[in-house]
Amino acid sequence: RNDSSQSSRMPDDKLLDGLLAPGFDERSCLSRYRSSLFRKISPHKPSSYLLSKLRRYEDLHKRCGPRTKSYKKACKRLKSGHGSSGGCNYLVWIPINGLGNRMISLASAFLYALLTDRVLLAELGNDMSGLFCEPFPNSSWIFPKNFSHKVEFRNHDERYARGYGNQLKQGIINESMESVPSYTLLNLDHSDYDLDRQSFYCNQNPSLLQKVPWLFLISDQYFAPSFFLTPTFNQEVQRMFPEKETVFHHLGRYLFHPSNEAWGRIIRFYQAYLANADERIGLQIRVFNTKTTKVRTVLDELFKCTQKEKLLPQVDPQNPAAAPSKNQRSKAILVTSLYTEFYENISNTYWAKPTVTGEVIGVYQPSHDETQHFGDNMQNMKAWAEMYLLSMSDVLVTSGCSTFGYVAQGLGGLKPWVLYKVEEEHTRDPSCVRDLSMEPCFHYPPTYDCRRNKKMNAGSLFPYLKHCEDLNWGVKLV
Ligand code: GDP
Repeated sequence: RNDSSQSSRMPDDKLLDGLLAPGFDERSCLSRYRSSLFRKISPHKPSSYLLSKLRRYEDLHKRCGPRTKSYKKACKRLKSGHGSSGGCNYLVWIPINGLGNRMISLASAFLYALLTDRVLLAELGNDMSGLFCEPFPNSSWIFPKNFSHKVEFRNHDERYARGYGNQLKQGIINESMESVPSYTLLNLDHSDYDLDRQSFYCNQNPSLLQKVPWLFLISDQYFAPSFFLTPTFNQEVQRMFPEKETVFHHLGRYLFHPSNEAWGRIIRFYQAYLANADERIGLQIRVFNTKTTKVRTVLDELFKCTQKEKLLPQVDPQNPAAAPSKNQRSKAILVTSLYTEFYENISNTYWAKPTVTGEVIGVYQPSHDETQHFGDNMQNMKAWAEMYLLSMSDVLVTSGCSTFGYVAQGLGGLKPWVLYKVEEEHTRDPSCVRDLSMEPCFHYPPTYDCRRNKKMNAGSLFPYLKHCEDLNWGVKLV
């Protein structure tokens, strides 16, 4: 063995138990091999079957990805309008909604690509550019901006007409398959397009979709659990993820590496405010509609939760004196929110009075943008940095129904306390609940059993798929 082969070897924890492939250029993506220096080692090991699927996928992506001969041929076929796969099939993910929604749907799309041997390409557009490193070695996952063929689905009618459901209904995609369209569109977002969702989740004839070389997928949902519901994929996903609740944990840590710019933000903040604390507590506070929900109400619910669950240290109202200064434990509270009120209130509380335990408390909030903007690259950069910082917590409180929180808990391998969403001032008692697992919730699971032609309840079919604590019609892997 010579020196160079030794230096290119990396300890297992750097590669996250084999999840990451070695051999990437380290400087172009500092976070990839350094995350293990900052985050606790995950107790959840990826299965060897998942690792072999990932390595096989990387080969496929290298062979078929942008700038390869196969890719150029496939683009020509796409232009011609007629299908027949030339050995490389593609899944193009189209973003909609906020960054958290995008990340959970992109991870689901990657799982689908792994299951069906498609090459995943992501249309990152302008507002997601520069957030992530390339996840696949020696290739790119970016769907080229100057893509020559105009794929028609930007308006509602086109989206419907080009949808898989409609193409099945019209016989454009059919059993005989004399002529296959070169592309079809899967509308799996939370809004209309029931026909597409039903056709996809039913998956009664998977070989039909397999023949279409280009699939464009629009989704803001975490639809990964749907593959546990279909007999076609159930055994395969169970083999990949014997620990069911680790789907996003592994796929997310495989795919989403902060770019150097995002990593700089994360590490500067972490080192300045969080690294030296004995414990880090993340509070992710999402108020979905400030017109109908008062910030004060959410703050009250948060305090009820942290008090009942003993998540934040109590202050001593009687004793304003400073606590003894030797061997004090310290806690850092990271607040993420679009607003400042939560941070101000919590930091004031710990400034005005000492803690009962004598613990020293720091309270920090990286940004407060006030409103959610769409198409804003810098807001996405901050959001990504904050999700990542939250994932470095020891204890995490998230806001019910928020995908922003789902990303943090999944990447961090954390089972959070979930604050129930306050709907028009309606609160619940207790105000929060310990989540069932670290997985994101699938908000709109299929409700129809195509084989038996009747309604179904996705949360009652398998012991490992349960209704979500934060949304009773959603389901999550546990
Ligand atoms: P969800 O709407 O809570 O499911 O989360 P999304 O991430 O899909 O959409 C919310 C968007 O609002 C984020 O992507 C951010 O752009 C912005 N946002 C919401 N909460 C925060 C926050 O705590 N910090 C930052 N930086 N941005 C936030």
